[in-house]
Amino acid sequence: LSQPVRGRVSFEGVSFHYESSGMGVDGVSLHVPAGNTLALVGATGSGKSTLIKLLLRFYDPQQGQVCIDGQPIREVSLCSLRQAIGLVSQEVYLFEGSIRDNITYGRPGACETDIAEAARMAEAWDFIQTLPEGLDTLVGERGVRLSGGQRQRLSLARALLTDPPILVLDEATSAVDNETEAAIQRSLQRIGYGRTVIIIAHRLSTIVHADEIIVIDQGRVAEQGTHTEL
Ligand code: ATP
Ligand code: MG
Repeated sequence: LSQPVRGRVSFEGVSFHYESSGMGVDGVSLHVPAGNTLALVGATGSGKSTLIKLLLRFYDPQQGQVCIDGQPIREVSLCSLRQAIGLVSQEVYLFEGSIRDNITYGRPGACETDIAEAARMAEAWDFIQTLPEGLDTLVGERGVRLSGGQRQRLSLARALLTDPPILVLDEATSAVDNETEAAIQRSLQRIGYGRTVIIIAHRLSTIVHADEIIVIDQGRVAEQGTHTEL
């Protein structure tokens, strides 16, 4: 991608079907101006995560193309594509190691101040402080067991630490309690400042601040508009 990445995302008539199931997305066109927040909503199995997987090039579309800043992503190295996108996916992957290792995965050697800021924005800092060794507490088989919501917040902190021009949150706060969700919601405006955010969520409260909401139904764009329009 040509630098700096501004973060304009567009899907142009994108169709993709998984070989094994025949399911996927059909003729999806959508445009997210740089710096905007797009919310994707729709029933389970409607194709939301598939769109995200196409944006990250886990798969390539069978028809149409996905572009960032007008550049087709299939012409871009996977490395620079994935550097431009911070992903908090539906399945959180933590590995054996410390909380610090897990947060700094995308930016090894990040300083304490930056780690703390990312963790605060993700509403993870307070619970990290309550752990026996703080950031150096081990997670995984030999370490502490974290709740689903805590794991999601670490994953969000990891994505924020890389300060990506495009941030994708796929059900990133589905497992946190309502109070934590509200707190993350409050920092989301700051999180979204100066970057493009694509957010998939079931809770309506998570998406009220989106510039645009797109409803996906059976792999197609069914409706789009602002929160007040829909
Ligand atoms: P949810 O809200 O439950 O996360 P979603 O909108 O993210 O749903 P997708 O995960 O995009 O839905 O799935 C879209 C369709 O593609 C579904 O019918 C699903 O069963 C199918 N599908 C998803 N992943 C695969 C895969 N790896 N192989 C085959 N079919 C798949
Ligand atoms: Mg999904």
